[in-house]
Amino acid sequence: MTHSAPHLNFINGEWLAGYAMGPNRNPSHLAEVIAEYAQGDAAQVDAAVQAALAAFPAWSTSGIQSRSEALDKIGTEILARKEELGTLLSREEGKTKPEGIGEVTRAGQIFKFFAGECLRLAGEVLPSVRPGIGVEITREPIGVVGLITPWNFPIAIPAWKIAPALAFGNCVVLKPADLVPGSAWALAEIISRSGTPAGVFNLVMGRGSVIGDALVRHPGIAGISFTGSTGVGRRIAQACVESHKKVQLEMGGKNPQIILDDADLAQAVELSVQSAFYSTGQRCTASSRLIVTQGIYPRFVEAIKARMDGIKVGDALAAGTDVGPVVSQAQLEQDLSYVEIGKAEGAAVYAGGGRVACHTGSGNEGFFMAPTLFTDTTRGMRVNREEIFGPVASVIRVKDYEEALATANDTEFGLSAGIATTSLKYATHFKRHSQAGMVMVNLPTAGVDYHVPFGGRKASSYGPREQGRYAQEFFTMVKTAYTLA
Ligand code: NAD
Repeated sequence: MTHSAPHLNFINGEWLAGYAMGPNRNPSHLAEVIAEYAQGDAAQVDAAVQAALAAFPAWSTSGIQSRSEALDKIGTEILARKEELGTLLSREEGKTKPEGIGEVTRAGQIFKFFAGECLRLAGEVLPSVRPGIGVEITREPIGVVGLITPWNFPIAIPAWKIAPALAFGNCVVLKPADLVPGSAWALAEIISRSGTPAGVFNLVMGRGSVIGDALVRHPGIAGISFTGSTGVGRRIAQACVESHKKVQLEMGGKNPQIILDDADLAQAVELSVQSAFYSTGQRCTASSRLIVTQGIYPRFVEAIKARMDGIKVGDALAAGTDVGPVVSQAQLEQDLSYVEIGKAEGAAVYAGGGRVACHTGSGNEGFFMAPTLFTDTTRGMRVNREEIFGPVASVIRVKDYEEALATANDTEFGLSAGIATTSLKYATHFKRHSQAGMVMVNLPTAGVDYHVPFGGRKASSYGPREQGRYAQEFFTMVKTAYTLA
């Protein structure tokens, strides 16, 4: 039995209206409002934090068995409803239905993983340097955490923050992206029936500048885990440092994909297309710089153009769609403006370059954009330095592996980086010398496992890693205890 509309905020175990309701629109069909969702305010953030603070003493000392069971139950329901939740996700965010179902599946798997992980929170026992004394190192929850998430993974990113937060005994206030409240609300509704006591998990929907800002500044919050743009992340980090909050940031990318002369051409084309254009290029791990050595360059650009010509763009839920719509009008305008910026910088539009009609022939009523590829680009161009966050990529032609590596690392970002090669020597060198947090050999830069750490370097990430066993670094704090025997 699930709770149906109205879609309100969830605070202290109750569904509460905000100051207004806001529409959640379908980017495949602009006239379609999926549902109305509550818009909270700073007073609701305060109520949520107070509820979480009140729930924390009991929850943080509750048995790991009950926490594990709650997380397992949440994961089971998500997986059982993956078709329905994946469809909702595709309607609100625009990724295709298989991609939507895949993301929901991942969210369910994450809850299942942390249901196990909360039983395995280990400490250390060491002898003291002073005779007769024992030393214990243990991990404790940090308190009430504020989780702020972006629109491009509407359920997986909330899941990969909520699950470890609850597993290790923290209480949560979630602020999802205002563009995609539907999946986060559905997740909150599942959590509301999981047996977690009132106040342990709270949802406050609304604008980033209102809800996000109030969370970041609230004195009751012990830590902020944020995923989103580098600019917003930087400001959040400054505010957190001032108030001694723990902070974890996952931000933008400008991920390089190197293609060497010795690469398997068909494989290199496929992984480049997958990571540059699928999910509409709206992944922080998308490759937007295809760095191609000169020997394979003519064959690569010809083959990728042929592959791109076959990509079907359109309604996220239509059968056969490969690439869904851009998420919003503002994002579409940003993507199209970068096409003009690239042209003005001297790049050639080799494929795509503008809006297209849905492949089903049902018109052009969604934010549909053709996968776009620039050639004749250089590494200093804005299209190769700034995150566009749409179905737009550039090819950069280089002489050899050394120039490819230098070009790949010549960016303020450092999230994911790929190399397509049959050379063990270059693959091994790249794994060691890439300045990215995640390195892929003969695989797309996007597409990662849920049980291992996720994150980057430089302006892409700040603070401890997310996911896998490493998630405990942010969601726990260490205590050292000495006992005289
Ligand atoms: P965004 O920074 O605009 O928003 C992210 C979240 O922050 C939203 O919930 C938003 O409402 C909130 N927010 C906005 N202003 C705020 C403020 N002043 N104070 C507190 N919160 C505020 O990002 P977006 O457009 O939703 O997402 C796209 C970005 O996310 C891209 O840059 C992408 O690379 C990045 N991203 C990174 C990762 C990663 O793991 N590295 C994953 C997914 C997306």
